[in-house]
Amino acid sequence: MIEKTVAELSAALAAGDISSVELTQTYLNRIGQLNSELNAFITVCEDSAMQQANAADTARAGGDSGALLGIPIAHKDIFCTEGVLTTCGSRMLHNFVSPYNATVVERLNSAGVVTLGKTNMDEFAMGSSNETSFFGDVRNPWDTKRVPGGSSGGSAAAVAADLCAMATGTDTGGSIRQPAAFCGITGFKPSYGRVSRWGMVAFASSLDQAGPLTKSAEDAALMLNAIAGLDEKDSTSIDTPTDDYTAGLNNSLEGLKIGIPRQHFAEGLNSEVEQSIRDALKEYEKLGATIKEIDLPNNHLSVSAYYVVAPAEASANLSRFDGVRYGYRCEDPVDLEDMYKRSRSEGFGDEVKRRILVGTYALSAGFYDAYYRKAQKIRRLIKNDFDEAFKEVDVIIGPTSPHTAFELGSKSDPVAMYLEDIYTIAVNLAGLPGISVPAGLVDGLPIGMHMVTNDFEESKLLNIAHKFQQSTDWHTRKPAIKTEEA
Ligand code: GLN
Repeated sequence: MIEKTVAELSAALAAGDISSVELTQTYLNRIGQLNSELNAFITVCEDSAMQQANAADTARAGGDSGALLGIPIAHKDIFCTEGVLTTCGSRMLHNFVSPYNATVVERLNSAGVVTLGKTNMDEFAMGSSNETSFFGDVRNPWDTKRVPGGSSGGSAAAVAADLCAMATGTDTGGSIRQPAAFCGITGFKPSYGRVSRWGMVAFASSLDQAGPLTKSAEDAALMLNAIAGLDEKDSTSIDTPTDDYTAGLNNSLEGLKIGIPRQHFAEGLNSEVEQSIRDALKEYEKLGATIKEIDLPNNHLSVSAYYVVAPAEASANLSRFDGVRYGYRCEDPVDLEDMYKRSRSEGFGDEVKRRILVGTYALSAGFYDAYYRKAQKIRRLIKNDFDEAFKEVDVIIGPTSPHTAFELGSKSDPVAMYLEDIYTIAVNLAGLPGISVPAGLVDGLPIGMHMVTNDFEESKLLNIAHKFQQSTDWHTRKPAIKTEEA
């Protein structure tokens, strides 16, 4: 049962084949068996999960029937959860119990989900491998010597290993899509503004966006139905109508125009990954799509622009962590300045400090024009590239990552790590929706196919992803984790 999709579990709950209490207990057992190996969860909420499961079963017996009622979920530990530890993967927040729920959490709670716990992540969502977490590395269920990707690596590993039915993540430069690719699941980043950022610990506010990590595009649609839409608490959430994201999943793809960016099939792409994506594209041709090459001429500037904009915003956002109000405070400070300095020196890890330094530098008088303003101009050029492309095609498809999951500890150079997001980062700079779906296996490891549509075309993107999953079975492949069946 635990390997099933949310849509399947929802049907089983509705039919009375299983109760939420039974389902929740089964996931908790599996977390108990596998979490010491995978380190996907920082916090497991056994008691409250069982209470919520009970409440869901009672509500169902009383006639409630929401699609997510009684479905067990895990939240990336970047989302504030009332009364539950919310660490953001950092020593700085290692003891922070949030007094309120993020809007995403609140909306999912209203839909009746069961929260199993909080998942591990790169510290403050900075990273592509989950190795920057204060709570230790997450391991990829397909091969525990390898990374799960990051920064939503705990959520991706948890979904892939069937430790939960679905999970939340956040994506600033690729942090939902790249770990989804490495773990063989579906990861969906909605358009900027589609989902509220309120109560999500801020990294780079103009790029951050919450989204689902799931076992199928259909499940991503079910989750998006619950979380999308205007939130008055987030002034950047958009006041445009949301869809029923499941309604158009089965629309025909006859006549769909697919664009293949030349720049994504160039040097640096593993040839077997490329072959898998090209094979996947043939499926789309069978479904009636046509394929043409397109150009995203400024794509090569995206990582550089991102690593000015994101650290600049991070340096401002992270100034709130000062040891005064909440979070980590150093021992025995001699005065206020000593407290600020040591709390921040001891509370933040190396990657976070590197970003704060870079960001502060880029924003400082004298350098602002040279770095920050220039990066913003490049951002506009990148958006223009997409605008041009979408005049000709409906969707842009390529690989999510140039390769499969790499070994833990194998990338010590920060810049090599930054290049991990070479295919995903431009999408955040442009604010567009993007999805990664499983599209093959190379040497027994999953690879992800990355698809992007124009602003607020979430329904179209989910339709395109769902149709692929209807005609292939890559998304149903499972890692062979050695354990007795829970
Ligand atoms: N890997 C990128 C970074 O380290 C993106 C992270 C993210 O999307 N949160 O900043």
